[in-house]
Amino acid sequence: MYSRIQNCRWTSLHKHLLTSSQRTYASGILKKKENVSTYFQPGKIYHGFLCSEVEPIKEFSMTAYFLIHEKTKTEYLHLERDDSNNVFSIGFRTTPLDSMGTPHILEHTVLCGSEKYPVRDPFFKMLNRSLATFMNALTGPDYTFYPFSSQNEIDYRNLQKVYLDAVFKPNLSRLDFLQEGWRLEHSKLEDKTSDLVFKGVVYNEMKGAFSETSSLFGQKFINTILPKGTYGYISGGDPLCIPELTHEHLRNFHATYYHPSNARIYSYGNFPLEQNLKFLNETYLSKYEFLDPKSTVVAPQERWKYEKKTNIHCRVDQYGGSVEKQNQIAFGYVLSDITNIYETFMLTAFVELMIIGPNSAFYKSLIEKNISGGYNSLTGYDNQIRDTLFVIGLRDVEKNKFDMIEKTVNQTIDNIFSKGFEKNHIESVLHGFELSIKHQSPKFGLHLLFSLMPLWNHNGPILSSLKVNELLDKLKDNLMKPQYVKDVIEKYFILNNHKLVMTMVPDPKFDDVFNDAEAKLLKSKVKELSPKEKDEIFEEGLQLSKVQKEVQNLDVLPCLKIEEITLNKTAPPLKHTISGTVPLQLCEANTNGVTYFKGVLGTDCLIDQHRLLLPFFTNILDKFDTRNYNYRDFDKYVSKSTSGISVISHITEHIDLKDQFEQAILVSSHCLDENLPKMLDILTEIFNRPDFSNSERMTMLLNNYCSSLTSGIIDSGHTFAMQAARSLVSSVDECKENLSGIKHIMNMQEIQNKYKIEDIQSSVDVISKNILKGNNLRAAFHYSNTNQNVLEFVDKFCTNLCDNDVQDVNRINWVDCKSPNKDNRGLHISMNIPVNFCAKVIPTVPYTDPDYPKLRVLSRFITSKYLHPIVREQNGAYGGGAMLTIDGIFNYYSYRDPNTRITMDVFDETTDWMSKNKDLVDDQNLFEAKLSILQQMDQPIAEHMKGVDMFLYGLSYDIWQTQRERVLAVKKEDLIEVCHKYLKMESWSGKCVIGADASHQIRKDNEIWETISGPQQ
Ligand SMILES: [Zn+2]
Repeated sequence: MYSRIQNCRWTSLHKHLLTSSQRTYASGILKKKENVSTYFQPGKIYHGFLCSEVEPIKEFSMTAYFLIHEKTKTEYLHLERDDSNNVFSIGFRTTPLDSMGTPHILEHTVLCGSEKYPVRDPFFKMLNRSLATFMNALTGPDYTFYPFSSQNEIDYRNLQKVYLDAVFKPNLSRLDFLQEGWRLEHSKLEDKTSDLVFKGVVYNEMKGAFSETSSLFGQKFINTILPKGTYGYISGGDPLCIPELTHEHLRNFHATYYHPSNARIYSYGNFPLEQNLKFLNETYLSKYEFLDPKSTVVAPQERWKYEKKTNIHCRVDQYGGSVEKQNQIAFGYVLSDITNIYETFMLTAFVELMIIGPNSAFYKSLIEKNISGGYNSLTGYDNQIRDTLFVIGLRDVEKNKFDMIEKTVNQTIDNIFSKGFEKNHIESVLHGFELSIKHQSPKFGLHLLFSLMPLWNHNGPILSSLKVNELLDKLKDNLMKPQYVKDVIEKYFILNNHKLVMTMVPDPKFDDVFNDAEAKLLKSKVKELSPKEKDEIFEEGLQLSKVQKEVQNLDVLPCLKIEEITLNKTAPPLKHTISGTVPLQLCEANTNGVTYFKGVLGTDCLIDQHRLLLPFFTNILDKFDTRNYNYRDFDKYVSKSTSGISVISHITEHIDLKDQFEQAILVSSHCLDENLPKMLDILTEIFNRPDFSNSERMTMLLNNYCSSLTSGIIDSGHTFAMQAARSLVSSVDECKENLSGIKHIMNMQEIQNKYKIEDIQSSVDVISKNILKGNNLRAAFHYSNTNQNVLEFVDKFCTNLCDNDVQDVNRINWVDCKSPNKDNRGLHISMNIPVNFCAKVIPTVPYTDPDYPKLRVLSRFITSKYLHPIVREQNGAYGGGAMLTIDGIFNYYSYRDPNTRITMDVFDETTDWMSKNKDLVDDQNLFEAKLSILQQMDQPIAEHMKGVDMFLYGLSYDIWQTQRERVLAVKKEDLIEVCHKYLKMESWSGKCVIGADASHQIRKDNEIWETISGPQQ
């Protein structure tokens, strides 16, 4: 539900990696069955661990082993499964009773160096020395955990060593605490008379964290509805409380909470368990005594006798709708205890029946009234904490509607109580559960970890929770009894007094209130200082800056070697054929009884005015009446037979030719094998064109769509900044910017304000008439060999769609576009946020050019050797780096950056830096840069994604393999050569800054800058 997990640098870094030059698809597929171990038996002891339970989990073809370390009582769960994408994780229950952010700051500082690996940021450094498919550290409201995954066993053991030493033996030095937590520092380091200011990585991070208003609402909501104990506090840290934390408190917190007796260790996959146990026991656990973790336990919340109401304030969303409408309201109920796994499972289904889709009661009573911008981001069922929560909320509502909404919510619950749920609505929700169990998730071992961790953290029955089929059978029986539904609604809603109504209203002075409080706190802190303490602050500031600039010896960290890397991919078995005029790509794969469809429909025939509406069109395509169904029945039919219909814009560059691209939409869905005829029938309904004449529904969907656009901008500001910068140098990206960037938000606001709903309806009609045609389709199917009749059904589907008069087979229509003028342009996207996002982009060469792999390796090299040390470690941005997109545009970016001008200069001066630092281009650094690219290229591909690069981008396995060989062949001289050839300061470029800084501060002499700002100033 709401993302209260503080996914720190590692998530955001990983996000950066995954969005860079290659389109990677996630991992985790079942390989052929090998012998399952029968070695571990209940009651026996292995390396100090007592094996207490062994349980086969049939639904996921795996065996679960639960072990307890005899001396320290450390709990260990191993899930043995024939999956090469192995996972390891260690987690601790961290339950502070204050908002100083101790668990969050600890998560940062344990990664500043440990006994065996005294290196700053060992995780970040391991990113270049490993083939990890995932690496992270996460702080939740009541736990902190450190997971990674890898397909390479040597790599897995390397990472395990670094992770375990970091959590059990961190240095936690005072300077690390000052750097990562908080400190007072002179605004001019060398000048003792300059002002003192607050600094610190987590301090700054948490100042930015609540700029996203949905995060603020989520945090305040949980603090208010669960006020007793740890949930009443901000585990990530409140900037006004963080300065109370001392170094000593941090060290004590580590000794208590990061103790083996408070640890939960998890492994998954096909690597042998025994080595994990041996290493853990010998190196760490055997050296500890048991420490009773009872102080970390979270007690169930005391239930309220009366419901409560409260109001909070937030900042104005500059790019949102009118300020009068920027209010939110939410209703929360505390439901079951997380350890009651059947109740939690059952309530998940109830909540879905109550709020999701046009057949649910709340959708009918709240959303279809068109009084809001739709459900807010808190809406749903939160089963990640001890006391699970149901929340229903609306965004973008006028204040005068609050009372009416409250009445409606109560009436809706009464209605569900008296009328129950419709039988076929229940069936469609249960079908969704069944399909999701069969769908082979690419990162299955990680998904299991993420769903088990919260339950395990409160000592819930984790092995039983894995037996989903048993839970599902019980649920099916119960849901069919009307009295059962009544009882549940009565118990958890009608008679439940632990209920909170919270509203949130924007305040134009919101930032001033915080700034005043911060200034007051600073003043009182400075006033308390003795002359001696002032001297220490000055000295420590200088010392910290010196340590940050020191060159570190990374040789202590393990590193994978070239001979330890094996290519574990093969060309997918693709068949290409034509049916009617539809080109087909067919792939038989190990899809576990599920059939997958993907279809691309060209949109180059549309005029610009209609093209701007495409993202909205893709959003509403499956939400109207069709030839044979009204929209409610159609929704039931779709969710009873398929995973749902997903439609997105698809714009892709030519991999050989500059300035050629395909513009289209991508439709996809999947179903159980036996439902294939129904899925094809549903797609035929869509191709027969829905009826868009319901203007009330169109208005409601347009309002909800526009309201949804601005959420998430701040969390991925660097992506928006790079996209906007690319639109200045490439017409392909100009097209993308209009359909997915900041421009799209502004276009939609204009459309919403300027056009009548009839105009929009007729545009949508024209779009559907022009693109929903069999002669405009190419399709791909993935299926198991158990699905005998697939080809027959597919052939019938395609020939039915095609117009018999048209004989031409549909081919990709590559659209030519003119190159923009080669002026150096910049775009300043003005926004009222406390930090900035900077981007600079330079067009280079397409994917198949021999220079492309060299530039790709260069992007990784300058990220880790130049941009990360300077933009992040020295200049205080949260992240910074470079990447190459598939169309050959070289991108620089910074993330949550306190600077703009300085960072832009760093980007501009790349070649100067390279000239001065040629000796950094040595064998090891070159290898590390290549390794970080292989990390992306060698990610395992899910069965239903095999060959999809070929289908979507024309990128065959052979071309992919050539690229991989070329990456491995890049030489030291190549890096220096392409750096000077393409990245000179005077090279044609585009720039973008998102943030409050004025553009005149950034502009250089030869640059043309433009400023845009949202409608709400
Ligand atoms: Zn953090």
